[in-house]
This record gives sequence, structure tokens and C-alpha cells, in this order.
Amino acid sequence: MSQLKSLRGMVDLLPYQTRCWQAVEAVARAHFLRSGVEEIRTPLLEGTDLFARGIGEATDVVGKEMYSFLDRGDRSCTLRPEGTASVVRSAVQHGLLSQGPQKLWYGGPMFRYERPQAGRQRQFHQIGVEFLGVGSPRSDVEVIALAWDLLRDLGLSGLELQINSLGTLKDRQNYRQQLVSWLEARFDQLDADSQQRLTTNPLRILDSKNTTTQALLADAPTLQDALSEESSLRFASVHRFLNQLEIPFQLNPRLVRGLDYYCHTAFEITSDQLGAQATVCGGGRYDGLVQQLGGPPTPAVGWALGMERLMLVLEAAASEDIDGDAAKLTSKKSPDLYIVNSGQHAEALSLGLARQLRASGVCVELDGSRAAFGKQFKRADRSGAAWAAVIGEEEVKAGELLLKPLLVKGEERRVALDDPAQLVAVLQTAT
Ligand code: ATP
Ligand code: MG
Repeated sequence: MSQLKSLRGMVDLLPYQTRCWQAVEAVARAHFLRSGVEEIRTPLLEGTDLFARGIGEATDVVGKEMYSFLDRGDRSCTLRPEGTASVVRSAVQHGLLSQGPQKLWYGGPMFRYERPQAGRQRQFHQIGVEFLGVGSPRSDVEVIALAWDLLRDLGLSGLELQINSLGTLKDRQNYRQQLVSWLEARFDQLDADSQQRLTTNPLRILDSKNTTTQALLADAPTLQDALSEESSLRFASVHRFLNQLEIPFQLNPRLVRGLDYYCHTAFEITSDQLGAQATVCGGGRYDGLVQQLGGPPTPAVGWALGMERLMLVLEAAASEDIDGDAAKLTSKKSPDLYIVNSGQHAEALSLGLARQLRASGVCVELDGSRAAFGKQFKRADRSGAAWAAVIGEEEVKAGELLLKPLLVKGEERRVALDDPAQLVAVLQTAT
């Protein structure tokens, strides 16, 4: 029988990885808590229409990458490829927007049918933030600072913030005309994808990963030149606030979002550790989306970061600096106590003792191998436990266990088996 395997692009997170993910999630949660950003959890499965309207048919995500199928009631369903559309749908559906601005975050798996490679999977995970009902340039920077500080607190270096302004819809319509006529004159030099985008979504050509197209675009008219004075001033405020917070940034005129409801600030945080898939976090302002999904006109700004890519950067940072914050996040929590035990009575007693100690907050590893003491001690050493408790037939008879320091300084001592409180006290004073 052939061996069962996970689907291509669907990746297991093994315990040592999950540990690291949880540490990152805890740092993120702490940031959100301090910033008054509340978690929202939406279904993984939505009506396909939400994404068609919310992300747009002309994008790769909707056009080529969605996991869509008909359910048993013949409804077209899609595994969410991103979080923003669902969050906005939920906020509209439950009338959250009438309660004032909403500062929300979400996390979890997203699904896109892409070609898997390093930092690119079919099921991947994002943490994202959406501020709904805030329109000022200052809120753009508050949102960017949240991402920047979170990544910095994880001990990551080599990050770069790139920003651009997409201006208003009108700015972009003007620019689109300029760009299209410029590109039409050079149609033959474009890659096939970009040729197609010229009619469907010309702004996305700026984002092309094709090197020949990229080289050609070096001389193309830029969106900056097409911005109205008002949009330029707004963008200048964003720069000013970023400078005030001492968050360094690079202007990147190629950074675009192809859909009409995106406007003004767009940004990405990239890492020099990632090669081709360099973007860890992407976001921007999307003032038109809430209305597009049936809600009241509501300005909004947000970002999403890719957990897998973040983990790749974190691993690189941890291996560069073994005492740094990133390395601390990836290290395993060791038990306080490892119980070495042998014999029928000892097994039963150590089971009860482990439970009592755990209830008192002690981290206990109970050896279940029935191996010789020597082997159990080796495992105890490897576990990184501070102490070992030995319970053999002799200890059962004497009604006392033998407590041995492994990683802590101290004497071996005997502690009554029926007095877990005393044991807890010894463990606490000596560690
Ligand atoms: P890319 O250009 O790399 O495909 P994107 O523009 O499609 O990125 P967004 O939709 O903005 O990405 O998603 C935000 C973040 O989610 C990305 O910056 C990236 O870190 C992560 N991400 C997107 N797609 C994937 C994927 N297939 N696998 C892993 N991470 C992903
Ligand atoms: Mg993509």
C-alpha cells in the first residue's frame, strides 16, 4: 500500500515548529492587546462571490489561485485566500461599523493554489490587522508601526519598509491612461502575462516579477507624477509621521495594488533573508472596499503578514545570534522535574504525584518507558529538567522519593512521597 502523504503545498507544523509559532503568536497578541486591537474569527469557508467582489476577478488570487468547489447544495464555496474580505463582510453583517471605528486582528490558515516553493505554500498562515473607520494619514502610520514594532520585537533585522502612494481613484485613472498608452507603444517587449494585464489590470504590470518587463518599466511614467496636490500632501504627512517615529522607509513607486478600492498608502516590509519571496508583510489603505461589499462608505487601512516567511526570517536570525531574542523564542521550555520510576507500585505512585504537582503549577515529565534507571536518567538530562525525582521499589517501601539536582545547584535529598506540598516548596526554593 502506498504511504499516505499530505497534499502538495499543505504543510504539517511539527511540535518543535508549533512551539516557535506559539511564541510568535504570543508576542503578536501582546502587541494587539496594548494597542486596543481585538481579535475577530471568521469562517475558513465563504461564498465565492465574497472574494470575487472583495478581491476582484482580475487578480491572480481570484482568477487563478482559489480553492473553489460546489457544496452539496450546489453553492459555490471558496476556502478563504486572504482575510480582509471576510473581516469586512463580518463587520458589515453584524453592524460593527455603526459602533465607531473598529480595530481588528485575525490569524489563521489561507488557501491559494500556487506553485509551492520556499516561502510559498498552498495552505499558508497570516496574521492580519484591519482598522475600519479611520481615514487620517496618522492612522496609516499607527498601523504600519504596529507591524514594524512587532517584527522588531521578534529580534529580526535586515527588514525594509517600502511605501508608495496610490493616490485617489481619479489620480489612478489619469495615471492608468498614461501608463497604458506608454506600454501599448512597447507591447511587443512585454511578457505574455503583462500583455494580458494591459487590458484587465494594467497597474499590476508594475508589480511584474518578469525581469525584462521590470527593466522596461524603469523608464515608464510613475504614479507619483500623476498624484494630485492633495494626495501628494497626504503622502508627505505619512512620511512626516514615519520620520517622527524614526521608522526608516524606502519609496517604491512600483508598489501597487491593482484594484479600485485601494488608495493612498500602500506598503510592504521585506527581508534580505528570503530571496525571491522577500515580502513578509503587505498592506495599505482600502477606502472603497467596505462600500463595495455592501457597507456604508468607510475608510480603512490594514496589513497581513505571512507566518511561514516570518518563520524563515526568524530561523535565520536565531542561527546568527544564538543569545538574541529570536533564538530565545525558538528554544524549548524544559520541565521543572523529571520523574524516573520503576516497578508496579512506583508507576502508580508517580502517576498520582505527577498529577498533583502539575495541579500546583510544576512542569513534570513522567518517564513512561519502563527502561533501566540509567536510560531514564539519560533522558532526564536530555530533557533539560532542573530536577529528577527517583521512585523505585526501595523508595516506595521507605515512603520517600529521592530528589536529585540536575541543572540546579544543591544536595540530593529525600522527600516524603505523600507530601507533594513539601516537594513543591523544595523545587521552588532551589530553582
Ligand atoms: P506575493 O507577491 O509574494 O505572492 P501577495 O501580494 O500575493 O504576495 P498578500 O496577498 O499581500 O501577498 O499577502 C500578504 C503576505 O502573505 C505576503 O506578503 C506573504 O508574506 C504571505 N503570503 C502570500 N501568499 C503566500 C503563500 N502562497 N505562501 C506563503 N505566504 C504567502
Ligand atoms: Mg501572491
